[in-house]
Amino acid sequence: MISRNRHNTGMGETGALHYALSWVLWPFLFVGCMSLTAYGFSLDHPYLPFVFFNGAYFLLIVSLLWLERVMPHERAWHKSDGQIFANIAHTLTSKGTSQILLVVNAYIGAGIATGGASGLLGAQIWPSDWPLWAQVMLAVVGSEFMLYWAHRTAHEFMFIWRFHAIHHSVQKLWIVNTGRFHFVDSLYSIVLGMLPLLALGASMEVVMWLGVVTAFIGMLTHCNVEMRFGILSWIFNTPEIHRWHHSRVLREGNTNYGENVMLWDHVFRTFFHEDRRPPARIGIHEHMPHKFSEQLIWPFLTKEKRQVISDLHKVKENDVADTIEFQQAAE
Ligand SMILES: [Zn+2]
Repeated sequence: MISRNRHNTGMGETGALHYALSWVLWPFLFVGCMSLTAYGFSLDHPYLPFVFFNGAYFLLIVSLLWLERVMPHERAWHKSDGQIFANIAHTLTSKGTSQILLVVNAYIGAGIATGGASGLLGAQIWPSDWPLWAQVMLAVVGSEFMLYWAHRTAHEFMFIWRFHAIHHSVQKLWIVNTGRFHFVDSLYSIVLGMLPLLALGASMEVVMWLGVVTAFIGMLTHCNVEMRFGILSWIFNTPEIHRWHHSRVLREGNTNYGENVMLWDHVFRTFFHEDRRPPARIGIHEHMPHKFSEQLIWPFLTKEKRQVISDLHKVKENDVADTIEFQQAAE
């Protein structure tokens, strides 16, 4: 499964320690963050649970930023793509949208609770008597079904792809572009993902834990850290699995739609994991504006308008290429 070149095995230049670390990092970081959060939640305190969750999240970001420097998966991805501002702005707008949605959801939840009904279906279908860990596992797998289809339809229907293309337009993966989603794209997947849980009457505690799992696994999927996964990549959406999803080759990119776990990719036969290194050249074939504000309005433009802008961009690119060629010929 792992090709035996020096860069990929981590042996030699980076040493045996990096190789050993590369096997334990993902489980260590994920379990570590979950444990810290669980400890915080067990304190039964008004705000300490959030301090522990955010602390774990912050520690994860700092650790990954450091690991991306000392043991990168692709050194070429260290080069700036000029998208830091756009990445952070998309992260803030899409996170802001989901926060608003969570508040609305809390009100709906409260309304349902005071109304005496459990869940949008008006019946207590959710197995609230199960242990919390089992309910969280059920929530992960259940919401994943909808998240899978939200993601898959975003790739298969042009109208939704326009929004999702912003996420895929990056040419390198690192933790700063983890949250790069058009806010409409975020809204679409969050609403679909939450729907089954709300409909079946899962508690807010379960929904919150689902958010915690998604936050940690999501932050790890984009990291540019050399890690190895073995069987874990068949179960979870690991960085290794997600790198295939960002391939420019459609046969590789239109696969691995899972958000947290890969169950539905196995069921619907979209799981992709070949015995070679995932591509370093990633991105999309179509044009995407460079500026955040232009990326925000891009999906709302007509096909003709987008075509005109793309053509103009191509002309500019050709002009630059001609100039370089002319300068090289003159030297
Ligand atoms: Zn995608």
